[in-house]
Amino acid sequence: MARDYYETLGVNKSASQDEIKRAYRNLARKYHPDVNKEAGSTEKFKEINEAYQVLSDPNKRSQYDYYGEAGTAGAGGFEGFGGEGFRGFEGFGDFGDLFDAFFGQRGGGRRSGPARGDDLRYDLRVTLEEAAKGREKELEVAHFAACGTCKGTGAKPGASSVKCATCGGNGQVRRTQRTILGNIAQVVTCPACHGAGETIKSPCPTCGGSGLEKKKHKVKLKVPAGIDSGYRLRVPGAGNAGSRGGQPGDLYVFITVERHPLFNRDGANLYFRTSISFLQAILGDEIKVPTLEGEATLKIPAGTQPNTNFKLKDRGLPHLGKREKGDLYCLVEVTIPSKISKEQEELLRKLKNA
Ligand SMILES: [Zn+2]
Ligand SMILES: [Zn+2]
Repeated sequence: MARDYYETLGVNKSASQDEIKRAYRNLARKYHPDVNKEAGSTEKFKEINEAYQVLSDPNKRSQYDYYGEAGTAGAGGFEGFGGEGFRGFEGFGDFGDLFDAFFGQRGGGRRSGPARGDDLRYDLRVTLEEAAKGREKELEVAHFAACGTCKGTGAKPGASSVKCATCGGNGQVRRTQRTILGNIAQVVTCPACHGAGETIKSPCPTCGGSGLEKKKHKVKLKVPAGIDSGYRLRVPGAGNAGSRGGQPGDLYVFITVERHPLFNRDGANLYFRTSISFLQAILGDEIKVPTLEGEATLKIPAGTQPNTNFKLKDRGLPHLGKREKGDLYCLVEVTIPSKISKEQEELLRKLKNA
C-alpha cells in the first residue's frame, strides 16, 4: 500500500508546482476513463488524482513529505512523527473532491454524506518494560459521542425533521467549477444541511441540535513490542462522532517511552554501565548485571581493559514489528581504590618488586 505520490505523477521531489500541474494534466488526459477504456485505467486515474490533491497543495505536500502517505490518508499501523507542530488530520482523507467531479454523477464514486467527526490526539507514556513486551492498554478518552437523547439526529425526539430545501433531501448539490481540465460539474455536500438531507425544526434540548454530546469512552489499545518515543498509533473510529450520523474520526495515540533508571536506549539496543575492581579486571570474574528480564551473568575475562564494552546478545528490545531483538551493551569501568590498608599495600609493593 506504499505509494509514492511523486512517482505516481512521474516528477521528482523537488518539482515545482508548475511541473506537478503539467505532469498531472498530461496523465489525467491519458487515463481519464472517458478516453482510456483499458482495464485498470480508472484505478490509475484515481491514483493520479489522489497524488495531485496532495502535491498541488503546499500544506498537504509538506505534511506528506514529513509524515508520508500514512499521515495523509490515514493508513493503519504506526509511523514516526516529528513531534512539534502536529496539527491533527482534519482535512486529510478527503481527496474525493475532484474524483467526485467525474464519478459523482455515475453513482460509482464516493458518496458525500454527513460530515465526518474530528480526529483526536491522546498522549500516552509507557515504561521501557512495557515497550519491550508490548501490552494492551485501556485508555479513557473524552470525545464527542452521538447525543443519547436524539441518537445523533439533533432533532427533539418526536419532532419531525423536514427535507432540506437547498438540496431537496439529497444531501448534495451540484456546482459548476472551473478546473485546469475545464468546467466541471461537481457534486458537493449541501452547505445548508451538511449532507444530512434534512433540517431540524425543533432542536434536541440536550445537545442544542448538534447531535453531539461530550462523553468519556474506554478505548482498547494494543501497544506493540518495540515501540519507541515518537510513534503514534491509530485507533480507527475512536475520535469524535460525526454530526448527524457522519463517520466518526480516528484517535491518534502519541507514544512517549519513559526514561529508565538503569538503561539507555537506542532503537532496539540497550546500554548499561557498571564497574569492577582492578583485581577483577586483572584476574577475571563473573558478575551479575541487570537486564529487562532479570539478572544475567557476565563473564569478565582475565586481563579486561578499562571501558570494555561487553555485548549480551538478544537482551535488548524487539525490533518493532519483528521477532529479532537488539542487544544489551555493558560498559565495564575499572575502579582503582583511593585508600588501601597497610596489609594490601605491603602485598602490592611485593608484587611491584617481584
Ligand atoms: Zn441531542
Ligand atoms: Zn441540504
